[in-house]
Amino acid sequence: MRQRHWKSLAAICGALLIAGCGHSVAAAPTPDAHARPVLDSPAAPVVPIAGQVVVLDPGHNGGGADHPDQLNAQVPDGRGGTKACNTTGTNGADGYSEHAFNWDVAQRVRDALTLRGYRVIMSRDSDTGVGPCVDERGTLGNRVGAAAVVSIHADGAPAGAHGFHVAYSSPALNDAQSGPSVQLATALRDTMVGRGFTTSTYVGSDGMDPRADLAGLNFSERPTALIECGNMRDPGDAAVIESPDGRARFADAITAAIAAYLN
Ligand code: ZN
Repeated sequence: MRQRHWKSLAAICGALLIAGCGHSVAAAPTPDAHARPVLDSPAAPVVPIAGQVVVLDPGHNGGGADHPDQLNAQVPDGRGGTKACNTTGTNGADGYSEHAFNWDVAQRVRDALTLRGYRVIMSRDSDTGVGPCVDERGTLGNRVGAAAVVSIHADGAPAGAHGFHVAYSSPALNDAQSGPSVQLATALRDTMVGRGFTTSTYVGSDGMDPRADLAGLNFSERPTALIECGNMRDPGDAAVIESPDGRARFADAITAAIAAYLN
């Protein structure tokens, strides 16, 4: 699944800046890369492993709640309908926000993958902005030729319901969704289980959750999955979600799953 579309990065960067959606795009692995390598670690190898690009999509954004008009604007859902640009996401009983959790875990995964030599592109570059909308998140991997796209979330369900689940687009809309996305989702599920996380007791089956209603999955033509790491309203899950050690464990598992899928 090696895909390279470096020539399109400048156009992507420009388009995203015009859209004002706050994306950050990592540089191509060439000396004359036209995108600023803001996401690279100085310790990262010069040549990425297999030249693979990974897109990480930390769900929601911290500034969304202050901009309901932007958040509620209708965008294409990828199956012929429309839905809201985004939502604020959920939060724990004590107010710890999902967007902050998603951002924290995504940064940890980004750093770990970068150290392994992957090129990581994030769907947003801070936790204080608004957007991007779900349709833009869904096409980002297509535009940069991603080998894998992982959207990172946490859920808000009644207390007592607990565990993680992994969503993928179903019914599939293209070849990437019918096979590779399911394989990526399975790698995430298997790695999470292997590292001691419990599959969801309240949604999906055995930690897997095929979904038709998520634009971020519907628009993708690259291997793409979305992980709901746990239920923020459940005291047991929240204790892990809200602890730095817990977030490190989620990040380690997600990183290992992506690497396992790509290798
Ligand atoms: Zn979410």
